Amino acid sequence: MKSQLVIGLDIGGTKIRAGAVSKDGQVVNSETMPTEAAKGKAAILRNIEAAIASVSKGKAAAIGIGIAGLVDHDRGIYVQGPNLPKSFQNVPLVKLLTDKLKIPVTIDNDAHCFALAEAVFGAGHGHKTVVGVTLGTGIGGGVVMDGQIFRGRDNAAGEIGHMTIGLNHDAVCGCGQTGHFEALASGNAMAKLYKTKTGNQLAPVDVENAAKSGEKEAQAVISEMAESLAVGIASIIHAFDPDMVVVGGGLAKANILWEPAIQKIREKLIYGQLRDIPVVRAALGPDAGVIGAALLTGKIGP
Ligand SMILES: [Zn+2]
Repeated sequence: MKSQLVIGLDIGGTKIRAGAVSKDGQVVNSETMPTEAAKGKAAILRNIEAAIASVSKGKAAAIGIGIAGLVDHDRGIYVQGPNLPKSFQNVPLVKLLTDKLKIPVTIDNDAHCFALAEAVFGAGHGHKTVVGVTLGTGIGGGVVMDGQIFRGRDNAAGEIGHMTIGLNHDAVCGCGQTGHFEALASGNAMAKLYKTKTGNQLAPVDVENAAKSGEKEAQAVISEMAESLAVGIASIIHAFDPDMVVVGGGLAKANILWEPAIQKIREKLIYGQLRDIPVVRAALGPDAGVIGAALLTGKIGP
């Protein structure tokens, strides 16, 4: 009988995480290795193949890939993204890997994978429409309806990090434009806003700690960010009226930001009914990307 081992791959700018995922969404075996993005296309491809080999041991039935940036899901092409070099643009990843491994390969944006995993196996389990938000160094998102990713025409639906929420704000986003959700509420935003206020460069976690210990400038940064986070999430709720918003990523764990933001969301929603929509933290932890990628194959899950 043919093996049904399904592999999920989460490819980031610094590391590649690969996992064998069971039918019910458990990561049974995983491996993390460096992407070595700076070394260019050949090295990245070599590391992707090595990551797959380390968990599949030649027995994979299908592979799903999640990767940051724009992905042509239908044609299986990684188009471009913020964390990988120019040499790794317009890469026909699905064809390259299918030709080599002779098994089905599927690819999508990593935040789509996160949202899918949380909707099917995580915090959003049992809910019809789930919006997933990744709140980390940057901000990504995905919309899942009835267990399916809503992709839009270009598979760019859910790029919520680039919603303009501060029209007159000069905070620069990772994309180069200003006033975007990501420029005002991400980990990068926290560090930049703090630097603008104080002239000092601190990592986001150190800004959080400074705020906790009572530093006024750090507290002002967190307070501004909580406002921005609330505006962004309220906008998502107004756009989709989802059954749940699930927020993951490192910054979602920061209570000092999370608690005031959750309070403020309610104030910004125009209908009482919308205020009942749960906005919750993700349940699957760092494996969500791998699980969501494996779900893309259609070979696991309900
Ligand atoms: Zn942007």
